[in-house]
Amino acid sequence: MSDFDVDLFVIGGGSGGVRAARIAAGYGAKVMLAEEYRVGGTCVIRGCVPKKLMVYAGRFADEFEDAAGFGWTVEKPRFDWATLKRRRDAEVTRLEGIYDTNLIRAGVEIAPERAVIEDPHTVRLLTSGRTIRAERILVAVGAHPVKEPAVPGIGLAITSNEVFELESLPERILVIGGGYIAVEFAGVFAALGSATTLLHRGAGLLRGFDDEVRDALAEAYSHRMDLRLGRTLTGIERRDGALCARLDDGSEIRVDQVLIATGRKPNVAGLGLDRVGIEVDAAGAIPVDAYSQTKVPSIYAVGDVTNRANLTPVAIREGHAFADTVYGGKPTCVDHHLIPTAVFSTPEIGVVGHSEAVARELYGTIDVYKARFRPMKATLSGRDERILMKVIVACATDRVVGVHIVGHDAGEVIQAVGIAVTMGATKADFDRTIAVHPTAAEELVTLRVPEVTKHPVGVG
Ligand code: NDP
Repeated sequence: MSDFDVDLFVIGGGSGGVRAARIAAGYGAKVMLAEEYRVGGTCVIRGCVPKKLMVYAGRFADEFEDAAGFGWTVEKPRFDWATLKRRRDAEVTRLEGIYDTNLIRAGVEIAPERAVIEDPHTVRLLTSGRTIRAERILVAVGAHPVKEPAVPGIGLAITSNEVFELESLPERILVIGGGYIAVEFAGVFAALGSATTLLHRGAGLLRGFDDEVRDALAEAYSHRMDLRLGRTLTGIERRDGALCARLDDGSEIRVDQVLIATGRKPNVAGLGLDRVGIEVDAAGAIPVDAYSQTKVPSIYAVGDVTNRANLTPVAIREGHAFADTVYGGKPTCVDHHLIPTAVFSTPEIGVVGHSEAVARELYGTIDVYKARFRPMKATLSGRDERILMKVIVACATDRVVGVHIVGHDAGEVIQAVGIAVTMGATKADFDRTIAVHPTAAEELVTLRVPEVTKHPVGVG
């Protein structure tokens, strides 16, 4: 008879934890999962899913305008926030139910309460007071938005958690940050009709992305909102029913909401890591090896709490790999090097592989193929927009090492391109692929002349 109540105790019912629990149970493990908030985690409850629904909502604004060029008359469209919120929240609840059902069907016992680690094989449930002995513990508790910079009045700002609870569309909103979340929400609010200011401390948005992608986004956003780069927030105060945000240049912005999106931190506080001797790294994340195992052999961690690549599909892959490794007899590591990603700004961004600057450092001589063009739809809509497509090739091997797209459906396109790049496609493979005409994506296979060949830094 085993000493343990369960084979696996999963702390956290987000993307990584749910996948790990379900797959482990499928291999025959006895699994229990604790979730203190709502099963589905950040992605389903207050992240990717409700955010994308809001992105869709915002994009109708352009569609209504563009329709005129194709002969449609659209009488003054009106947007109702309450309808969007109600329908969005209902969809989130529906998905939450599916996650719950799938776990239960897989045989996973769900504890709807907070769990903390007592020792390498014991978890305590804080509401019921139960203590569970587990052969292994998987920490999949995710991360939370930070409220930084720590300036006076920062408590008046909301984060990407509270943004989903707003009961009305703010007439004026200030969004602070230059990462995925700031860029996506600034785009949503601007499209829905809020007077939107996006404030970022850096000279360009989306640090780490290819410079031309960053420039293209900043250019597009400068026409859609008040974009303030290279500026910082020095304080917020409530005055005459508005929030007044002060900037480092002495200027002031009056708004109804301030949304802070300056990063996220792992949810390790009070988890009991100190009781088992796990020390977090400088970012507050749990260090793990390639199999997501911590320094305590019975304790594993996946997802944002490990701060490897903080993306839902990566957490899912890590959770699945953990279950395959430990319960399926198939040791599996997750390759974190080639991760296709999309930013749901408008225009949308899709990327797989390296930026030009990084590719040049890694591969020496590279060819850069580029197309910047007006999409066909814009010829009749009259919308002033450009699509950017950029393909980066390592000359020594002809391998495509980076693809960058800014424009409609970039996320959809990059998912398919990601397969080719993951398989190691060469530029010759792209060239022999027959174009789908007329599409924007056909540019990816019709680029013949490199715009520029860049040699290793220092070689000229
Ligand atoms: P990011 O880490 O991506 O960006 C944080 C931004 O805030 C950066 O622009 C950073 O500037 C700025 N910043 C950080 N600290 C300060 C400060 N003290 N004062 C002013 N500015 C500051 O975080 P996000 O919150 O945008 O997103 C969190 C994670 O969620 C991302 O890493 C991403 O992986 C994931 N995500 C993915 C999405 C997707 O796949 N579409 C959508 C949403 C989130 P600087 O660049 O100068 O450091």
